[in-house]
Amino acid sequence: MSFQNPVFIPGPTNMPEVVRQACYVPTIDHRSPVFGKILNPCLDNVRKILKSDDAHIFIYPSTGTGGWETALTNTLSAGDKVLAARNGMFSHRWIDMCQRHGLEVQVVEAPWGAGLPADRYEEILTADKNHEIKAVLATHNETATGVKSDIAAVRRALDAAGHPALLFVDGVSSIASMDFRFDEWRVDIAVTGSQKGFMLPVGLAILGFSEKAMEAAKTAKLPRTFFDIGDMAKGYANNAYPYTPPVGLMNGLKLSSQMLLDEGIDNVIARHHRIAEGVRRAVDAWGMELCAKSPDVYSDTVSAVRTPEGFNATDFVTHAASKYGVAFGVGLGEVTGKVFRIGHLGSLTDVLMLSGLATAEMVMVDLGLDIKLGSGVAAAQEFYRSNDRESAKAAA
Ligand SMILES: *Cc1c(COP(=O)(O)O)cnc(C)c1O
Repeated sequence: MSFQNPVFIPGPTNMPEVVRQACYVPTIDHRSPVFGKILNPCLDNVRKILKSDDAHIFIYPSTGTGGWETALTNTLSAGDKVLAARNGMFSHRWIDMCQRHGLEVQVVEAPWGAGLPADRYEEILTADKNHEIKAVLATHNETATGVKSDIAAVRRALDAAGHPALLFVDGVSSIASMDFRFDEWRVDIAVTGSQKGFMLPVGLAILGFSEKAMEAAKTAKLPRTFFDIGDMAKGYANNAYPYTPPVGLMNGLKLSSQMLLDEGIDNVIARHHRIAEGVRRAVDAWGMELCAKSPDVYSDTVSAVRTPEGFNATDFVTHAASKYGVAFGVGLGEVTGKVFRIGHLGSLTDVLMLSGLATAEMVMVDLGLDIKLGSGVAAAQEFYRSNDRESAKAAA
């Protein structure tokens, strides 16, 4: 693997050199006011990136998966009913976690490649007259299939049913890259991690809690210790943690979140959309299809590309790594061997993306696919040159 080449996996993402250096800090006393100067900007910046005025932000030494566990254990009790759709590997794993915690999950199966079915949510919530469903789970961006779902539509489904369930959103591969509106969508818990849109090493779970979710935590009975938000909030009140905080990573987050805000979060969103659109033009020029079934669900952070029948898509990833030192993502779960994934989020530009597309073409030709070298790159170039960065910003 070359350390010169960027990675094109949908997390961990490429790290700007300044962010990497910001993670490299000498030992400080994490119970001194010095730590507050790292913690408080992180909390404020994350809240802004979520587009929230007053969400309670929590940052754990963990990963996105630990963020899920934080959401569930702080707000629910054994036997509680939750509603979730399964349309890919990440939504599947969240359901699995609920079941292992003794929650009763009403699962809506959706095709891998489709968004989550808000209309089915509305039917189920409307039928739940006694309000037994305590939480609705929604994976905003299914990283396994490159599918985004409409969270505003899920909120409308809850409202149309007049249902008081909490709305939990997995935004691990969307927050800080794609449009996310904590307040407007009245999200109760948003979950992400450090190694995707935030351009950091893995190691932080980052969450936003609404007032309603904070209230639910007062009566929720699932066991929790490490992830207890009550203990964490007490710590924050003293510029501290209930245990030793990951100071280096948080110093990195302070910088990377500020970089995102300096770029302007809507500009960050526009940049991701523009880079993703170039990738989609390339895939189309190759005569290939995305796993995502229709343009309204195309993800701006990851594209899962279907390979022709009889071709093992995992070979694409293995060959790209061994011959060119470039990382792409393998297919997961139901689409293992059927898709390879191009990650296009985080610290990325159109120019870097073109190198990834050029590499993908060499790999496919090496492996005997009927692709013309340069065809996808040309389509992406044509898109990038006629949709410059400034006009992408203006459109946002
Ligand atoms: C990456 C990812 C996760 C898992 O996050 P970890 O940090 O690996 O625990 C969960 N959900 C989605 C949508 C993801 O993309």
